[in-house]
Amino acid sequence: HNDPQTTHIFKSKLPDIPLSNHLPLHAYCFERLSEFADLPCLIVGSAAGKTYTYAETHLLCRKVAAGLSALGIRKGDVVMILLQNSAEFVFTFLAASMIGAVATTANPFYTAAEIFKQFSVSKAKLIVTQAMYVDKLRQHGEKLGEDFKVVTVDEPPENCLHFSVLSEANESGEAPEAEIDPEDAVALPFSSGTTGLPKGVVLTHRSLTTSVAQQVDGENPNLYLGPEDVLLCVLPLFHIFSLNSVLLCALRAGSAVLLMQKFEIGTLLELIQRHRVTVAMVVPPLVLALAKNPMVADFDLSSIRLVLSGAAPLGKELEEALHNRVPQAVLGQGYGMTEAGPVLSMCLGFAKQPFPTKSGSCGTVVRNAELKVVDPETGRSLGYNQPGEICIRGQQIMKGYLDDDKATALTIDAEGWLHTGDVGYVDDDDEIFIVDRVKELIKYKGFQVPPAELEGLLVSHPSIADAAVVPQKDVAAGEVPVAFVVRSNGFDLTEEAVKEFVAKQVVFYKRLHKVYFVHAIPKSPSGKILRKDLRAKLENAETPK
Ligand code: AMP
Repeated sequence: HNDPQTTHIFKSKLPDIPLSNHLPLHAYCFERLSEFADLPCLIVGSAAGKTYTYAETHLLCRKVAAGLSALGIRKGDVVMILLQNSAEFVFTFLAASMIGAVATTANPFYTAAEIFKQFSVSKAKLIVTQAMYVDKLRQHGEKLGEDFKVVTVDEPPENCLHFSVLSEANESGEAPEAEIDPEDAVALPFSSGTTGLPKGVVLTHRSLTTSVAQQVDGENPNLYLGPEDVLLCVLPLFHIFSLNSVLLCALRAGSAVLLMQKFEIGTLLELIQRHRVTVAMVVPPLVLALAKNPMVADFDLSSIRLVLSGAAPLGKELEEALHNRVPQAVLGQGYGMTEAGPVLSMCLGFAKQPFPTKSGSCGTVVRNAELKVVDPETGRSLGYNQPGEICIRGQQIMKGYLDDDKATALTIDAEGWLHTGDVGYVDDDDEIFIVDRVKELIKYKGFQVPPAELEGLLVSHPSIADAAVVPQKDVAAGEVPVAFVVRSNGFDLTEEAVKEFVAKQVVFYKRLHKVYFVHAIPKSPSGKILRKDLRAKLENAETPK
């Protein structure tokens, strides 16, 4: 079935473009710096809101690069960014690229245990964060300030350094030159992929420059961005969707990025109006807020020409409700997966677009990439309108999982196809529709909830013999995690106790919403949890036993 003659491969309707993916990521993003020098690059969306031009942004990135070097960060070293959206996030990320270092981005709302798991797996040497998260960092065995360095962007607590040690280490921003190979890692986001625990996703300079090019370079790109655009950056930059499709794409195109620390509807609307935002990258819960919140009527949103939703499926009803609020805008979806760099497909986001996309569609596959739909039973590739597992191939996909060849081999096959664990089909107009997920992953408002992580926590409880965690459909969140639990001794353990046991150890969106006590977890002869059976039980609203 691997005969190329019989393999159905879907490509973009747009021609491939020449790629500049030999360049390191920062050089590629700032390639047109001299043209954009005086244009706004970063707009900090707060009361004190400062705007940095392209020239200022670039200089600060270089200074921070020099500062990281002065603190001993070398090529190949990992720096953890544990920040809400901020200018310092951007400076640190690009500075790491400049010296050949790697940035691992983490959710600052993670618990101490979650942070340190990523910190130790990624072997990070330094953390750039905010003072309010430092207490969590102290809950670790190693000595803060001695075994690893902590830099805070605000007033530094004891044993921490202020960000100025990075940004003011060197006036001219002269960092030692690093020889960077396109195959070197530059970003290390964490994702559980199709199975198991969160793993480091190695994205190279080549992956990210290819992905950005696929979105914004050449004639008729999927994302038409230019220096006149202002992009809303409210989705967290620690997630690759925002980092890539908002920040890096904007820099490449000379657009301005409006940075918002956190989502608050009133502030968001006020900022969109004040800064005349033209492009809004969102996730379905944000679409819900924009579509339904009565405050929206009080603001002028006429500047928005494109709303692009990603990270989770967007329902038709929501799409229509949003359309009523911003009738002038093109609405579309992007479909991504961290391991895929992350963008697989995207609507063509411009009024003059040659191919308008249908409601519910995730657009067409990006250029310079191949997509196929595989029958999970037979492994054969399928043609138009037949649902199967989506696979993607191209230079944008991850190099692999960090220090985990086994997991890499399970995800990227010998022919270079990345298996997404998503079920979808391609319609007659080459548009992609995602209909289901065959992987374990649960998505709460677009955030990853890896079932294996919660199952590991559950079975560590002395009164739990076995457990399985599966998604349950939810109107507001898309999906929520629920657990099936086998008690090991008697019936004393309550649902509340189980929920609390988990809640204490995980970030808010991984909390269990329901616990069903059962006598056994259904498993295959090889010991795999039969998640489909458990999901079916929930859907059929049977009382699970
Ligand atoms: P992440 O790696 O956190 O970006 O999660 C990737 C997963 O999110 C994909 O494999 C899909 O299951 C889901 N996903 C992302 N975008 C979409 C979309 N537009 N529609 C449906 N599911 C999506």
